[in-house]
Amino acid sequence: MRTEQLTPHGFKRLRGAGARLTRGPRTLKMRGLWMLLALVAAAKAEKLFIGDEVLRVNLQSEEQIQLLQNLETEQEGELDFWLHPVSTELPVDLRVPRSSLSSVKEYLLAHGIPFTVMIQNLQELLDEEKAEMDQNQMRELSSRSFNFGAYHRLETIYSWMDTLVSQHPNLITKEEIGRSYENRPMYVLKFSTGGFKRPAIWIDTGIHAREWVSQATGVWTANKIASDYGSDASLTSLLDTMDIYMLLLTNPDGYAYTHSNNRMWRKTRSMASGSSCRGVDPNRNWDAGFGGPGASRNPCSDSYHGPSAHSEVEVKNVVNLIKNHGNFKSFISVHAYSQLLMYPYGYSCIDVPHQPELDAVGRAAVQKLTSLYGTRYKVGSICKIIYQASGGSIDWSYNLGIKYSYAFELRDTGRYGFILPANQIIPTATETWLALKHIMEYVRDHPY
Ligand code: ZN
Repeated sequence: MRTEQLTPHGFKRLRGAGARLTRGPRTLKMRGLWMLLALVAAAKAEKLFIGDEVLRVNLQSEEQIQLLQNLETEQEGELDFWLHPVSTELPVDLRVPRSSLSSVKEYLLAHGIPFTVMIQNLQELLDEEKAEMDQNQMRELSSRSFNFGAYHRLETIYSWMDTLVSQHPNLITKEEIGRSYENRPMYVLKFSTGGFKRPAIWIDTGIHAREWVSQATGVWTANKIASDYGSDASLTSLLDTMDIYMLLLTNPDGYAYTHSNNRMWRKTRSMASGSSCRGVDPNRNWDAGFGGPGASRNPCSDSYHGPSAHSEVEVKNVVNLIKNHGNFKSFISVHAYSQLLMYPYGYSCIDVPHQPELDAVGRAAVQKLTSLYGTRYKVGSICKIIYQASGGSIDWSYNLGIKYSYAFELRDTGRYGFILPANQIIPTATETWLALKHIMEYVRDHPY
């Protein structure tokens, strides 16, 4: 039997041994420091994750999957599942706030569910990340350069985009496809050597705000395309007949919010009527099995699908562009983490008509990716490789007739999860490029 109580934040919490722990002088001193940090953060409105742990849970039976799913449902809004409990094949990564640690661990122990601590004190990792970003910013300012091996704020990425466009005026244009919920412009980089609505490839990064290596990989990739055009024969021939569209900050409000307020933010920032919780999971919001399994109707959930399909203006802006254009042949969406290359469907586990081809192209792409540093990827449909998830973008694009629809989950497999150290950005982007290029070349060589 489990008893529940309300925490000061109003969350239901499992009653555990934590409340009875005695505190020594050192703990008290640390507590003082935390209080101080909390005050500083409160002044800056920034959410802190002091003492939060990320646990890796290895499920061993259907019963344990069920137990973890119960925990996820009961603790929605309090526990942050980085990877969800879906099968005994896949690990579960779970961020637990310090206040819930002892009760969650007690729950796992009581049911004989094995776990390890992947991240001890999340805030420490975030502090390092921020310090590195600040130092990099100083260096960039003084050297007037842009470091592709660093994470950047939205404004920095936007101004870098202008620089890139100005350096390649005959190849790249920047187009505003609309505004975000908080009125930030959404810019697409269009790589084109001419023609009118040529067959095109779509690449978006950062639809989930906290998956920072995705946006950073997008930035590196845009630069790569710009600098390789004219020198890399294959890419040059591709751009002589096709266009590439890149949306680097697909969720600009969420991305800004991960820098200003909450590094763990995933969703958009829209307001829901009748709830104090904000944001919709923009990758559960597409008109493809909308509202089905793997999405939540609870506005406080991180996988809230929103009030209706395409309710999120950020999603709608992309939908409008793709539909108005009408000649996209490939739609690639880049996420992190888990090291997967996936194709439709997510909302259903039935095979799509082009499953054999999508699978073969995916496997060949991943083989190239792996050849560089040995990074291992799995390939498969979203539903079969992770879990049933409705309202996803590549299901929508596939159903619209864009055959080569893929989603990447970049590095890593959970050592750092969403807080991938910046020194892995360039290796990640470089290996990913080999896979992206393979898919793009295949699309070029297989017109339909
Ligand atoms: Zn994602």
